[in-house]
Amino acid sequence: MTIETIAIEGLTTPVSRIGLGTWAIGGWMWGGTDEKASIAVIRRALDSGVNLVDTAPVYGFGVSEEIVGKALADGYRHKAVIATKVALEWRDGGVFRNSSPARIRQEVEDTLRRLRTDYIDLYQVHWPDPLVPIEETAAVLDDLRRAGKVRALGVSNFSPAQMDAFRRVAPLATTQPPYNLFERDIDQDVLPYAKQHGLVALAYGALCRGLLAGRIDAGTRFEGDDLRQRDPKFREPRREQYVAAVAALNAFARDRFDKSVLALAVRWVLDRGPTIALWGARRPAQLDGIEEAFGWHLDEQAFEQIDAIVAHFIKDPVGPEFMAPPQRALAA
Ligand code: NAP
Repeated sequence: MTIETIAIEGLTTPVSRIGLGTWAIGGWMWGGTDEKASIAVIRRALDSGVNLVDTAPVYGFGVSEEIVGKALADGYRHKAVIATKVALEWRDGGVFRNSSPARIRQEVEDTLRRLRTDYIDLYQVHWPDPLVPIEETAAVLDDLRRAGKVRALGVSNFSPAQMDAFRRVAPLATTQPPYNLFERDIDQDVLPYAKQHGLVALAYGALCRGLLAGRIDAGTRFEGDDLRQRDPKFREPRREQYVAAVAALNAFARDRFDKSVLALAVRWVLDRGPTIALWGARRPAQLDGIEEAFGWHLDEQAFEQIDAIVAHFIKDPVGPEFMAPPQRALAA
């Protein structure tokens, strides 16, 4: 299989255009974790040529980074491009934005220890913190880059104006917004900005939290603290609309390209611009379809047909806004 790659400024290794997302591996908000399966899926990704592994301290409050660190021990570190994040803190069961220089200097050491490495390939600000000037955050991150602890810098959930502020102080290589064929607000602003300024966009939720993998139906139940229990797309009356759209997209993908809806969803993200599709998986078998996403393209007509299917079935579209963590001032 030939995996498509893309260059990220500041990194010498070409990066796979599918990245393994490890939020669910942390367990928190996904109904728990299975360490053995998690290590196996990370190694399966790396053995398949997917070198980008996206994690964050807040995923399982350290658990995801620790599991990534264990998976990369024993000779896997050199194969991996580790993307992790900074600037969300957790306290008394709550998660808050905090991108103060002091928080960042503390977090980077915790992250390096958990990941069992002495450098982070891509370090991303997880959410903008309105209490800290973006220039201050960018300056401390640039210090870490110059010190060699971090190789490239990114942001996540930032607007173009916020990225402008960051870029005035430090080189910005990537942005990480929500993006999939149901959630495409960034077509209006962030994606054109990325194209204009040479940033790579790491699209999160490329499978729309599993919906676009094609195995969720009206009867699917989610266990424990799984966030999909409160995701408005997974609640009626919307669930029926989204599930019907996925079935129609699957039929379209099969008829037109002989592919699954999952491959269509990933291809859709990859054919929209300088993107990487983050694919959240927590069991090796969930990566079985990786090769199906490469070696073909969507044309204009296919994009239009996909739009028509989405418009036909989704009468009450809703975005991923429910996932945004509170600001500290609002949370106190
Ligand atoms: P996602 O990739 O859209 O969906 C992940 C879920 O899809 C999996 O947990 C799995 O659900 C299901 N799935 C995956 N492969 C499958 C397959 N072959 N067959 C059936 N189901 C399959 O959602 P995501 O994990 O939220 O997003 C991906 C990554 O983006 C995250 O892991 C994280 O790294 C990043 N992210 C970043 C932010 C941010 O603010 N920067 C926010 C969200 C996510 P089950 O395991 O339950 O079956």
